[in-house]
Amino acid sequence: MCVFMLYQYKKINYRGRFAPSPTGGLHMGSLVSACASFLDAKASQGEWLIRMEDIDPPREQAGATEEILRALEAHHLSTCSEIIFQSKRSHRYISAIKQLWQQGDVYSCRCSSKQIKVLRKECLYCPCRDQSIIECMGEWHENILDELDQLGGALRLRVDELAESQIVFEDRHYGVISKNVAKEVGDFIIRRSDGLFAYQLAVVVDDAWQGITDVVRGADLLDVTPRQIFLQKKLGLPTPRYRHVPLVYDEQGNKLSKQHFAPVLDNALALDNLRVACRYLNIKLEDPQSIEDLLSQAVDAWVK
Ligand code: GLU
Repeated sequence: MCVFMLYQYKKINYRGRFAPSPTGGLHMGSLVSACASFLDAKASQGEWLIRMEDIDPPREQAGATEEILRALEAHHLSTCSEIIFQSKRSHRYISAIKQLWQQGDVYSCRCSSKQIKVLRKECLYCPCRDQSIIECMGEWHENILDELDQLGGALRLRVDELAESQIVFEDRHYGVISKNVAKEVGDFIIRRSDGLFAYQLAVVVDDAWQGITDVVRGADLLDVTPRQIFLQKKLGLPTPRYRHVPLVYDEQGNKLSKQHFAPVLDNALALDNLRVACRYLNIKLEDPQSIEDLLSQAVDAWVK
């Protein structure tokens, strides 16, 4: 039986979320994603939550969490429930690893991604799969991850070439997506060699725990969605509906993202920022005079 059967949140028809990583302040690209998931939730009379994905300290920027939360508030994108912080949820991720470990679905791997790439080119599996340190460590016990850390290595999820690795889902924007996770991705990391939990694990555990029914986010994550669905199936968790929103680009053709130094939004210009975000989402507005007016027009337009 799946360990997450008891959701923290009551079941409802629609619950969406915006899940930023605090690697910098809110920029136009992330405002577009936040607006899309917010409008989709409101247009469905659903709930909308904010989840801070702060599980990767080396990539994070001091003060970014507070900056993002202030910006969302300034743009009136307010959460329906308490904000959860992934940095405080290690116990949940450990429970998921325990389940996968007991099912024989994970192994410890010391190969670099470069080595794995070479092996995969030759259609070979990583040798760590067969010399499983995990089997030698015996039954799951409390200190097992610390012991594993002393030996070094990441935890990988086995993705065997079986029918279950063919993932097909219908994205609400991009239509039917089909991907063979065994062939196109292979065994992927759920806990990194530096002891940090991988995004793929944390996002799957938290979407289920929060009872998220609809994930609306940027199209840069379309590619990793089959991996997340595969992991949901391994953990016996439900699969939410997905809607990926086309990315936005600046005049030079660069994706509006932190990597391309998209400027952090000025909260004093919230109404203008939201106008621009709506333009990127192809939402036509009739000269809104306030943020409330804009959001209410945008929700109506989203329904149509
Ligand atoms: N935290 C991720 C990011 O900021 C988004 C995760 C998600 O929406 O699934 O890119």
